[in-house]
Order: sequence, then structure tokens, then C-alpha cells
Amino acid sequence: MELKWEFSAGGVVYKKEDGKVYVLLIRVKNRWSFPKGNIEREEPREKAALREVKEETGVDAQVVDFLGEIEYWYSLHGYKIHKFVYYYLMKYTGGDITPQKEEIDEAKFVPLEEAENLLTYDNDKKILQRAIKKLKELGEI
Ligand code: ATP
Repeated sequence: MELKWEFSAGGVVYKKEDGKVYVLLIRVKNRWSFPKGNIEREEPREKAALREVKEETGVDAQVVDFLGEIEYWYSLHGYKIHKFVYYYLMKYTGGDITPQKEEIDEAKFVPLEEAENLLTYDNDKKILQRAIKKLKELGEI
């Protein structure tokens, strides 16, 4: 089987309302994760992450910090794909949630303490833990 690499960037977008912190999750079929998507040629990772958050969810945000990368393998059309996703902590700045019809079934802000249970993938849970650590350092929680 032929090998391919894929590189995406995405965001853990948080917002604070009445002292409570929420994070933005997306659902594709029955799987919950963070908004993300392919980095275009020559595009800076941060820019790709913000663009994909906007395209997939309708939400505007600003990058606060880099959270790290995850990697996984999957197979598609006879290729074995090694995928890397670079995640950024982002602060919500505006915009209504409008899930991108073709790719996303649902997008919503969930209370921070419910996010871990909803997330499907262990590597995303690891990124969430880093986001929580960072939010504590920033005094946001
Ligand atoms: P992108 O959103 O980056 O454009 P995509 O929608 O084309 O990507 P992925 O979300 O990477 O594709 O999904 C491809 C395959 O990998 C699916 O089978 C999916 O279930 C699986 N997958 C998605 N996210 C993860 C993850 N964090 N860990 C392991 N497997 C994952």
C-alpha cells in the first residue's frame, strides 16, 4: 500500500460566559473532536487553524498559544495516510455558529468539564488537558 502524509491545523476555541468556560466541539456522524482542516501550500499553520475554525463553524477567534500536535494513521482509496494535526488554543472573539454543511453535522460550545467525556479520540483528550493547563496558567479558570 502506498504511503501519504497529511498536515492539518485546528483550534481549541474557548469562551467565558458568566464566569463559566466553554469549548467549541464539532460532530461528524457520531464522532466529536475539534475543528481542523488541511494546511494549504505555503500557508502558516496558525493562519490555517483560524481559517478552518471559521470555515467549519462560523466562529471568529484569536490565537492564544500553541498546544502541540497529534498524529494518527488511516487508510483511504488504497493509501495508508500518516496524519499530523497542529492545535492552537484560541479565544472566541465573535460570530454565530454555522456548521459547514458538507463536512460538519454539528458544532457547539460545551462546558469545559463536559468536553473530555464527549471527545472521541484519546489524542484530542490530551490536547484538551494541555488547553486546561494553559487556561489555568492564564488565570482564565
Ligand atoms: P480534515 O478535517 O483535517 O480536513 P478529514 O475530514 O479529511 O480531515 P480526518 O478527520 O482526519 O479527515 O479523518 C480521517 C480518518 O481518521 C477517519 O477515519 C477518522 O475517524 C479518523 N480520525 C479523525 N481524527 C482522529 C484522531 N484524532 N485520532 C485518530 N483517528 C482520527
